[in-house]
Amino acid sequence: MNRDEVLAHDRAHVWHPYTQMQAYLEEATPLVLERALGSRLYDADGRSYIDANASWWTSTLGHQHPRLVRVLCEQAAKMCHVALAGIAHEPSAALATELCQIAPAGLTRVFFSDNGSTAVEVALKLALQYWAQNGRPGRTRFLALDGAYHGDTMAASSVSGIDVFRRPFGGVLLDCLRVPPGAEGYGRAFEVLGRLLAEHADQLAAVIVEPIAQGAVGMRFYAPEFLRALRELTRQHDVFLICDEVFTGYGRTGPFWASQHARVEPDLLCTAKGFTAGMLPMSATLTTERIFSGFLGDAERTFFYGHTFCGLPLGAALAREVLRVFVDEDVLAVAAGKAARIAQAFAGFRALPGVVEARTLGMIGALDLAGSRSYLETRGRRVCAEALARGAYLRPLGNTIYITPSLNIPDGDLDELLGIIEDSVRAS
Ligand code: PMP
Repeated sequence: MNRDEVLAHDRAHVWHPYTQMQAYLEEATPLVLERALGSRLYDADGRSYIDANASWWTSTLGHQHPRLVRVLCEQAAKMCHVALAGIAHEPSAALATELCQIAPAGLTRVFFSDNGSTAVEVALKLALQYWAQNGRPGRTRFLALDGAYHGDTMAASSVSGIDVFRRPFGGVLLDCLRVPPGAEGYGRAFEVLGRLLAEHADQLAAVIVEPIAQGAVGMRFYAPEFLRALRELTRQHDVFLICDEVFTGYGRTGPFWASQHARVEPDLLCTAKGFTAGMLPMSATLTTERIFSGFLGDAERTFFYGHTFCGLPLGAALAREVLRVFVDEDVLAVAAGKAARIAQAFAGFRALPGVVEARTLGMIGALDLAGSRSYLETRGRRVCAEALARGAYLRPLGNTIYITPSLNIPDGDLDELLGIIEDSVRAS
């Protein structure tokens, strides 16, 4: 198909995610991509674009990393998918072991699923069922930060705090206590969170947070001390702490896990996205011996959960190779040098016209344009359109412009991207 034919089929049948389809059908001129390599996307006319958000934060090692492609092909030739119920195989067994070795201390059991939302869903259900069958059936609620984002399934959106995403489903979501909006800064938000935790501990199954960096709400960062103090409080009240590392894991914020900034060991940790470096949908929820042993015994204590593709050999072999590439290519050290470049450039962006704030953490750079913080704001889109015309693909979060490139983006591409952002902000 040529470009126009692709677009004709697309417009006739594809319902795009997070997209107002009326506007899309009337005016969108989407990229029509044919291939991707390293940190670049190539369209049907052979034009290339720097992938500034690493394909929805997944492609941490760049597109088509040759070692990952090779492992995929080798495993595909051997065994793509078998059920994990009543069956063991080397890729998932070895991957679980390797994950536990690299995870924060105390996480010794791995439950595989398909994506970030299901990794969260698993954590929520594990917490609920644990308390239900271990003497605390009244613990049925969750506690989360305002502005949190944990995915789009019903349960994951229940604990998320971006109002515009949740509003249509408000009446049917799980019961989640949330720090009220308008709390000034994270100091105040964590204070309120701590108070709600103490007041409602008997009803709470778990507190869930994105450690250190809240992604979808606009790349906002908080001090490790807050997470550390929250861990202490959850221990005091014996409420589980879920760290959703779907976005922050695999070196995005500097260390392998963002929880490590605060030396925090959660009861449940969710990982996806970088887990397969964006090449297959697969995820994992890690937990402790305490929670695992709370499910041992009679048939009714079983965790009745399992997606068709959980632990598939193809994804597990790939995820193992991702871990090996992180070690062999010293990816965290390589990224540290690039993170310094991002920090320096974004510090300069603060002085750009129309920019009210800029901040960075590891391989995340974000700037806020003047205007409201609503996700529906459109100034950010104008900057992204300017960037696309200059050869970089970005997606805004309302009035927040951000980059989350692959951790091994070549320095030349990174410098070009930073230049494009500066020019695009000036031009819009
Ligand atoms: N948790 C966090 C912190 C996320 O950022 C996301 C996705 N952006 C999810 C969960 C959901 O992941 P998925 O889109 O793979 O379901």
